[in-house]
Amino acid sequence: MLVIMKNDATQEQIDNVIREITDAGYRGIPIPGDHRTAVCIVGNQGMVEESPFLALEGVKEVLRVTKPYKLVSHETCPKPTVIRLGEVEIGNGCKPVIIAGPCSVESEEQTLRIARQVKEGGAKLFRGGAFKPRTSPYSFQGLGKAGLKILEKVRSETGLLIVTEATDSENLKLVEASTDIIQIGARNMQNYSLLRRAGQTKKPVILKRGLSATIEELLMAAEYIMAEGNTQVILCERGIRTFSDNTRFTLDLSAILSVKAASHLPIIVDPSHAAGRRDYVIPLSRAAIATGADGLIVEVHSDPPSALSDGAQSLYPEQFCQLVKEVEYLNMLGVEKC
Ligand code: PEP
Ligand code: MN
Repeated sequence: MLVIMKNDATQEQIDNVIREITDAGYRGIPIPGDHRTAVCIVGNQGMVEESPFLALEGVKEVLRVTKPYKLVSHETCPKPTVIRLGEVEIGNGCKPVIIAGPCSVESEEQTLRIARQVKEGGAKLFRGGAFKPRTSPYSFQGLGKAGLKILEKVRSETGLLIVTEATDSENLKLVEASTDIIQIGARNMQNYSLLRRAGQTKKPVILKRGLSATIEELLMAAEYIMAEGNTQVILCERGIRTFSDNTRFTLDLSAILSVKAASHLPIIVDPSHAAGRRDYVIPLSRAAIATGADGLIVEVHSDPPSALSDGAQSLYPEQFCQLVKEVEYLNMLGVEKC
């Protein structure tokens, strides 16, 4: 349920509405930003009765949000959410953001070298895993805390903003302190305690679609983060499991359209994990941008054959430069969006 306040409603009246919602046994969450002055009522006690709230001072109308995801829904926030980090804007509908870097932070030398290369190519954000969710327990698991220190060095030496994954509630605390954007990986998309913890942080979160998750499940996972008060969620399509085995996963381009139809949150695409092979990354990136993705997150390595994880899908730095040029060109063709 959405309580829309009158244009001239006072902060006192908004606070009173939230108090009444709480007293009735629900949670009242103010909708931030410049969308509408509104309070979303959420609760798990079944149907909420609208009339008591309609009678409160300053209330203009009370609307039912028909979707199971409330804060994530377009019904709650009709305008797209734009996430701002310094001069970078994610979801502004004009310029797709490009996040690039290795799958894993392997050493200071390797990480700094790749960071300089992707910066040269035009990236403003750097990705690199310190805590790695690997299929095999015997594969390289990441450098952990030492990896976060290296990422901090990348930020201070290059000015690139950092994106790195938290794999559990314990390392989320460390990741939160070191990173600019917290990544929640595909395998953790339905780890509800981790989602709630991410919702209690002040950092934007990239939420990757689970390997076999529907769009509704992805949106409900984002709702867990938003319901804790963190409205800065970026969704990520990274390929899903289908019968098709010619690629590592199947990139679901229509996810971009479905998310945009249902939600105000930005959506980026990870062509690297979807394809599993570097020669498909540029063509899939073109497709993602042409479909309306708000950005890309791609794996780049200066020496992919020696990478400790995901070398086969990592672009060479020259290929990354080519990718950036192509994205800029495609975006120029679509400038009327802005
Ligand atoms: C990654 O980004 O390196 C990663 C593990 O991605 P995903 O969670 O999409 O598999
Ligand atoms: Mn990877």
